[in-house]
This record gives sequence, C-alpha cells and structure tokens, in this order.
Amino acid sequence: MQQITRDNANIIKNLISTKERIVITSHHNPDGDAIGSMLGLYHILTSMGYDSSMVIPNDIPDFLSWLPDSSKIIRHSKNKQAAAEAICNADLIFSLDYNSPSRLEAVKENFDQSKAVKILIDHHPYPEEAFTWILSETKASSTAELVYEFALILNAEMHIGHNAAMCIFTGIMTDTGSFSYACSNPRTFEIAAKLIAKGVKVEDIQQQVYNNFSESRMRLLGYSLESKMKVFPEYRSAYISLTYEELKRYKYQIGDTEGLVNYPLSIKNIIFSALFIENKNFVKVSLRSVGAFPANKVCEEHFNGGGHINAAGGKSFATMQETEAKFVEILKQYQKELNQ
Ligand code: 5GP
Ligand code: MN
Repeated sequence: MQQITRDNANIIKNLISTKERIVITSHHNPDGDAIGSMLGLYHILTSMGYDSSMVIPNDIPDFLSWLPDSSKIIRHSKNKQAAAEAICNADLIFSLDYNSPSRLEAVKENFDQSKAVKILIDHHPYPEEAFTWILSETKASSTAELVYEFALILNAEMHIGHNAAMCIFTGIMTDTGSFSYACSNPRTFEIAAKLIAKGVKVEDIQQQVYNNFSESRMRLLGYSLESKMKVFPEYRSAYISLTYEELKRYKYQIGDTEGLVNYPLSIKNIIFSALFIENKNFVKVSLRSVGAFPANKVCEEHFNGGGHINAAGGKSFATMQETEAKFVEILKQYQKELNQ
C-alpha cells in the first residue's frame, strides 16, 4: 500500500487513463458521504473523459436519491449479477469511505477475488492491507473532502463541475452534521467555499437532505425520543432502541433512522449516545460521542465493529434485551472515562 501524493500523481493519472473498466464502490448502508463521494468522483471522471460504473451492497436512502446520476449506481441487493460482473471484470476499483473490505458485506467476496488495482480514498483510521494505493487522511472531515483533494492532486480542478460540486458538498455537509463536528480544520470550509463558488446552492441541498421526511419518519422520531430513549445521567449517556415490530409500525424505509443517534447528545451533559436497531439476524449498533471518549474503541471491543473516535458502528448478535443490558454494563465499566 502506498499513500497517494502530488509526487506520484502521474502514476495514478496513468492508471486512470490506461485502465478500461473503472468501478467505484462504497459501504453497506451508505450515508451522505458514501454516496456523495462516489457520485462526486464519478462526475469528475466523466468530465475527464473516462467511463466508470458504481456498485454498492444495498439500497440508497431516499434523502440522497435526488443526487445527479444516483440511479446509475448498481445495488447488489437489487441486481446481484450486474454488481458481481462489474467488480469481477474491473481493472481499477475505487474504494470510498470504508477502510475494510468487510464493509462491502455481500460484495466483499467479489472484491477480494478481483485482480484490479485498488485505490482507497477514505478518512477512517487504520486502513486494512487490501488496497494498492491509498489517499487516507483521518483528519479530513469526510471522504468527499478527500475526493476534492484527489481531483487537485490529479490537476483536475476544472473537472469539478456543478454536479460533482453538489455531490461533494453533500458528502461534507452530512458527515459534519451541517458543519457542526469533525470540521475544525479551516481546509473543510475552504473547500466548501470553492464548491459554493462552483454554483452549489446550500439552501437547496439542506432542503433536499433534511426537509424531506415522510410523515411516518417524523413520527418515528417523536416516538423514539418520547418513549424509547433511556437516559443515564450518572454515566452521561443515553440510548434509543427500536425493534423490528416498531420499525414496521412506522413504515420504516432505509435512511429513516439516519441522525437519530445524535439527538440524545443535545441533552445537557450527555456525551455518549447509542442507537440499537433490530435487524433480521442481529442488532445494528450505532455509537456517537463528544470529545475524547472513544466510541470506536467501544465498538471494536464489544460490538464487532469500529469507526471514528466520535462516530462508530457495529453489530450485536444477542437479543435486543440482552444488547441493552450489555450496554448498561459497558457504561458501568467506563464510568470513570465518561465522567472525565
Ligand atoms: P453508523 O452508526 O452511521 O452506521 O456508522 C457510523 C460510523 O461507524 C461509520 O462512518 C463507520 O465509520 C463506522 N461503522 C458503522 N458500521 C460499522 C461496522 O459494521 N463495522 C465497522 N468497522 N465500522 C462501522
Ligand atoms: Mn465518511
């Protein structure tokens, strides 16, 4: 694995111009950064004159489906054959917004078997040894920000058109909670300003991403906060759990619980929040923290996952009830750190 810099930009440019089947991939349950980065890179490559296809393991949330050309993204869950063929035939694969092939879930096997040159663009710590080239920067707000930097490294700034700018802006905006966390580096705002100068309408993107709830999603939010949030002031923590039956009651669609885990952090003194969502074979765990408390460490040690220090995810293979009890035990274990 070798880090991509301006010094080896010509090698990367050469790879892009000589490889014929370029595939852009991102992680399971894609968020705004995953989809924004993919489409941002797709539009840049298209403007440079290169064809590429895009593959993800499962569905695109409704609040991102307005992004230009999102309908071109091949979803393995909907079209297994097309997804597998694209990956198996690829000679250059971009891996965006994930540091481990395991996050490709159902697409992982094809990815592992592929002989393609693999380029990682990502901001998660500790990328696995599965990639040929990496543009890996934990300090970046988002992968979308790194897609912008990647274009600059390739000397392709002029290929960031209006569509690419909208997608990249959406990635940065969603991964920073509308510029409220992981964005203390002036660079993030410099890039946002450049994107706005390229015609991004911030109000329109805010409107599309955040003011686009279905009625049932809004009511699920209300129900979650009123009836399902448990607060533990002594551990400065809170969690929300939602069972399969509850999700069904509120006509759950992928993306409907996006952002829900952040709400408890708005309570004074709460610095650690969890969201448990019951799936068919496991409970999906999302953790968020404020400051130095490491959500990723808790996920790695207890929930078969990982992520960033303040935003991490994983899985619990116990029942919902057991998962909640386990979480309370974990809080006890970390009482000192939580109260520092
Ligand atoms: P979310 O809670 O929104 O699903 O994920 C938050 C962050 O945690 C993601 O950006 C990603 O870095 C990480 N993450 C989520 N799920 C997993 C998982 O299953 N495994 C690992 N290693 N990281 C995850
Ligand atoms: Mn991200």
